Amino acid sequence: MNLTGHLLIGAQDVATSDGTMRALNPASNQLIGPEFALGGTLQVDQAATLADAAFDSYSHTSLAERAAFLDSIADNLDSVSTALAARAALETGLPQAQLEGEVGKSATQFRQFADVVRKGRFLQLAIDPAQPDRQPRPRMDHRLQKIAIGPVAIFGASNFPIFYSVAGGDTASALAAGAPVILKAHNAHPGASEIQARAIRNAVQKHGLHEGVFSMVRGSGNAIGEALVDHPLIKAVTFTGSEQGGMALYRRAQLRREPIPVFTEMASVNPTFILPDALAERGALIGDGFIERMLVNVGQACLRPALIIAVKGAGLEALRSAMIKRVGDAAARTMLTPAIQAAYVKGLVAQENVGASLVAVGGPGQADFDGRSALLEVDAQRFLSEPALAREVFGPSALLVTVDDETQLLEVARVLKGQLSAAMHLEHSDLELARRLLPILERRTGRIVVNAFAHPQEVTFATVHGGPFPATSDSRFSSVGMTSIERFLRPVAYQGFPDELLPEALRQDNPLRLTRSIDGDTPQHVL
Ligand code: NAP
Repeated sequence: MNLTGHLLIGAQDVATSDGTMRALNPASNQLIGPEFALGGTLQVDQAATLADAAFDSYSHTSLAERAAFLDSIADNLDSVSTALAARAALETGLPQAQLEGEVGKSATQFRQFADVVRKGRFLQLAIDPAQPDRQPRPRMDHRLQKIAIGPVAIFGASNFPIFYSVAGGDTASALAAGAPVILKAHNAHPGASEIQARAIRNAVQKHGLHEGVFSMVRGSGNAIGEALVDHPLIKAVTFTGSEQGGMALYRRAQLRREPIPVFTEMASVNPTFILPDALAERGALIGDGFIERMLVNVGQACLRPALIIAVKGAGLEALRSAMIKRVGDAAARTMLTPAIQAAYVKGLVAQENVGASLVAVGGPGQADFDGRSALLEVDAQRFLSEPALAREVFGPSALLVTVDDETQLLEVARVLKGQLSAAMHLEHSDLELARRLLPILERRTGRIVVNAFAHPQEVTFATVHGGPFPATSDSRFSSVGMTSIERFLRPVAYQGFPDELLPEALRQDNPLRLTRSIDGDTPQHVL
């Protein structure tokens, strides 16, 4: 595939005077072409101005038109799947076959959102009819629908170069909501970003949409991200990455003259509790499965289980031995970027410095940015007294916390901060303890899994990819799944409107045949 290295600002391919960068192949530590343009505040302003100009027409596209546009993006992604996965593999060190799966999953996600748009339930239509005879005073007719919040800035993530990047769920859900998107590409995979951005832009052009519906910018350092968050025409931001970066952008957005929502997805160790009878019954199986999931994506996955808590007693030795064996057998693999690899090594040292013991390491690294897998262990007393042990170390490592008894297991759960997910492995005879653990976990996470692991990610209506801080900056929303569209919507009420002035979805004869609640009731049949 021919890459030009341009920024895509609306319909324009833009070369800038702000310098260029090349991609790094982290497996070989070699730079690879072409030269990719770097932009700054000027390009952000151009993209935001276009996005604002696109808003009225795009947010008012019919549901059928918008759904067809999302389907076209999916088709375009499918048609570049091999080239996209090959380029992403070069830029990330991840296996091409895995990345082809990621393209397929991303295309499917666009089709799922097309379906959401066609059904129109996300509009949350509500009609409270007029009550002219109500005493002591009549009630006006009230009708509600949700509309898009405005242009959205999306920070592509480094760790899933498609599914959480340019053509990821943030873009799919924002476009589904009717919001134009300005994508800040992650510099770890500029070529893969360009291929995805062109797939989206081609669909914009095919459907005759305003060019400002989608732009992709790139820059060096923090200036471009700051310019995006500061721009007065941007009305919401999404981010996946470090707690430090996410919170810097979140705080910045709150200091704007007009504060805007920033949906950050940050750190999570996804604690996994092995209840005593499950441990005794199948410790080895659980230990092996835990490490298998921990190693996915070289440990660079938001749902990676990284903290495992087990009660001393029957099954613990089998669990520990299985984990040690699986970690010891794992070959070192290329990590995404030099900075992520360096942070991983530093994180492991930091855990040892605060009292964790290294009990297993995987095969040694062969190349500069290989990540060697590791298992550390600590007892509950130490864990409870050292908050640093509960911090995310982003990479292929896990920490085993051994607890003396059930009371201590609950104490460990209570000191945990917000998480994207938590898991309980249990037998029927563990239910009483599970019932005591459950409310503690509910307060700390958006997803609780029983006898399995949260990874791999499913995209469904009931998916919750969110949780209290520091997992995210806003636990009320999910960043994956069909409800993630809600981040980009706001309600508008239409009061006392003549029928012909109402949005089509709210007109009396329901011309779009959409589901609408009437006085709070949603009939099963379409009104
Ligand atoms: P990052 O450093 O937080 O960067 C993510 C994106 O935000 C990049 O485009 C970055 O731009 C931009 N950015 C970060 N801080 C910014 C700031 N203060 N102002 C403006 N823009 C800012 O994340 P990363 O590069 O993906 O990886 C670094 C670390 O993040 C990892 O070691 C890991 O700990 C964590 N991480 C966690 C997850 C997870 O799912 N839990 C996923 C990815 C990363 P530049 O690249 O130009 O700086």
